[in-house]
Amino acid sequence: MPNKSYSFGNSTEPIPAPRKKRQNNPPTVPLEVPGTYTSLEKDTIEDDEEERNPYEQVEPVWKSYLYQVQLKAPKPHRVVCNQNVGRRPGFYGKEFHGAITREVAEQLVMQYEGCYLTRESQRQPGTYALTFRFNNAPKNYRLYFDEVEKMHYVGEKRFETVHDLVADGLITLYVDFNAKDYIDHMTLNAKRSQSQKDETVADEEDNKGSLNIQVDPSNQTNRKLIQNSFKASDCAKPHNFKTHSYYGPHWCELCRNFMWGLKNQGVRCQDCSYDCHKQCSDSVHEDCSPDKKLVKRVFGVDLTTLIKAHDQRRPAVVDTCIKEIELRALEAEGIYRISGYADDITHLQTLIDRDGIVPDISEAAIDDINVICGLLKLYFRQLPIPIITFDLYDQFIQTAKLEDRYEVIKKMCELIDMLPPAHYETLKYFCRHLQRVMKYRDKNLMSSENLGIVFGPTLMRAPDSQAMQAMGNLQYQKKIVMFLIEEQDVLFER
Ligand SMILES: [Zn+2]
Ligand SMILES: [Zn+2]
Repeated sequence: MPNKSYSFGNSTEPIPAPRKKRQNNPPTVPLEVPGTYTSLEKDTIEDDEEERNPYEQVEPVWKSYLYQVQLKAPKPHRVVCNQNVGRRPGFYGKEFHGAITREVAEQLVMQYEGCYLTRESQRQPGTYALTFRFNNAPKNYRLYFDEVEKMHYVGEKRFETVHDLVADGLITLYVDFNAKDYIDHMTLNAKRSQSQKDETVADEEDNKGSLNIQVDPSNQTNRKLIQNSFKASDCAKPHNFKTHSYYGPHWCELCRNFMWGLKNQGVRCQDCSYDCHKQCSDSVHEDCSPDKKLVKRVFGVDLTTLIKAHDQRRPAVVDTCIKEIELRALEAEGIYRISGYADDITHLQTLIDRDGIVPDISEAAIDDINVICGLLKLYFRQLPIPIITFDLYDQFIQTAKLEDRYEVIKKMCELIDMLPPAHYETLKYFCRHLQRVMKYRDKNLMSSENLGIVFGPTLMRAPDSQAMQAMGNLQYQKKIVMFLIEEQDVLFER
């Protein structure tokens, strides 16, 4: 079996600089002495002081303590079996010792730290086990091989070689054994520094003077929006984290500590490439700034993600379709009710998803306006979180059940203010458009009720878990859309 051991370098090599991604990454990595994490804690607390005095500003430090710990982790050494072991599975090499007893296996690995071997289980022939020495004691694990992916594993992480699996196991155990307190502190400090930042932002907001309107003071983005200074970049958006395997040393962007291990060392945001420990990901702010290069599609992309990635107030596809429809079809009979050719709609969608921009949809290019209406409806239907968000769905439905028109409007005002800014902006723009469509109802035969029937299920839908109970809500969804159209001057002018 080839020794594909992962290269961490060794302790005599200089410490490699972490990946330079953000401007605040330092050019070099200062070393830290193990065991000094009380001083790290102090650094974090004093951050505010440093920011106020430009002369004393210190670049953020990438903390290398865990890197040093990982370097000291025992390396794997395979215990070679020179005897004929009979049935050796093709996926094991010379570290396979056949069906030896656990006791014999444990004796064989006791030579040095990191010694390992694989064997067939005596109790359950046909299953395999891994034995290695860590911290002067033998460890035994049930060892699996995925025949399809050709990967070895004992837990969640999968490895091409048993050697890599043992190397990662030794690092994980060693870091856990030697730096457990440090890691606990690291997570706590990360949480604390995030909440300190939150407090600073809240203080700054409060200093901007009071507003005339009553809005939940914790909702900073809505307040900014209502002050009519909407910026796509201000919209709060959570990161979209997925477990990630890094090649080469990587540092957590939240706590600035090394991300140890050989695989699945941390999580990476799929929209902006923010990297952090899994432990730290819960403490990260909802301040994801999606990268246009990473957000490749338009349809089926979260609305906030899309407008942040493109730095737009609303998705271009919404604006362009609405402009075109108003230009040539406000009087068209059955507008939005009559379907366009599905193939033509899909073709336009494919182009937009491929290029990230809306192609020419003028009359010369697309003569059937129903295709453009269909495209816009498809865009709304494919939003992973509908424009009227899942979390407010129930409250909207309950509001629609109220008898008193004034009560409905009052409650809807509150609910609309709770929409994320990106959703609020797009819904407001779209409802203005629907109102203009409705004004031509004598010609196009689309009353607010007809539009409510068309757009009820498009603008809002129940979370999947409630899909069954929501079957009877169509009439309320229709009513919500009717209110959005008829009362939009009141509903969106707060
Ligand atoms: Zn992100
Ligand atoms: Zn971290």
